Amino acid sequence: MRSLSAYDLLRVWEVGEDWHPLDKALTLLAATCPELTRDELAALSIGQRDARLLTLHEQTSGPRLNGFVECPRCAERLEFDVSVADLRVAAEPDAREEVQELVTDDLALRFRLPNSRDLAAVAGGRDPATARGLLVQRCVLQASRDGVPVAASELSADEIAELAQRMSECDPQAEVLLDLRCPSCDQAWQALFDIVTFLWAELAAQAKRLLREVHTLARAYGWHESEILSMSARRRQFYLEMAT
Ligand SMILES: [Zn+2]
Repeated sequence: MRSLSAYDLLRVWEVGEDWHPLDKALTLLAATCPELTRDELAALSIGQRDARLLTLHEQTSGPRLNGFVECPRCAERLEFDVSVADLRVAAEPDAREEVQELVTDDLALRFRLPNSRDLAAVAGGRDPATARGLLVQRCVLQASRDGVPVAASELSADEIAELAQRMSECDPQAEVLLDLRCPSCDQAWQALFDIVTFLWAELAAQAKRLLREVHTLARAYGWHESEILSMSARRRQFYLEMAT
């Protein structure tokens, strides 16, 4: 994985800003993981994808994540500060088996973990139960009840819920919870940490800061955008200090 150059950062931000989070995530990874094709990136499980996004955050912004959440009880805005290491739940997500199994008293399922393509296929407008049913149909490879093969579309709501639970267990990086406590009202709760939204907000802030720097330097020195972007951050900072 390589880090984003100033030029790449602006490029990713300007093309992806209006896209769905699933596409934002893949665009970020496509720019930083040239060793994988877009298809290969889309086939990563959501946990594998998010592990890479955490690494990208580490490379661009360091080992800690700072953000804000709102207390669900008193609406106080509080800051959280966690380390990337604490958010990593699986050391080697790539080492996981591609085909997983769920075996209960009567049911035997072979399935794969949902990836970006699956989530894109079920995204948009559907109610959660329908979306979950569709996801199951895409990801179940083989199903049998009491030894008799059944279609994934014939699984009951309880069986689908059980499978969803098993999928979460197999891909824990896909669902990271933050333990939070409000200092004002002492409310304690868990919030789902969404690395895509977090990383994109960070990227957007960096892109806008970079454009302001380009604006300042272009006006002061008459340089072209491409010349300013190709400078090292250190050199750009030096000129900025001189110009302002
Ligand atoms: Zn509170």
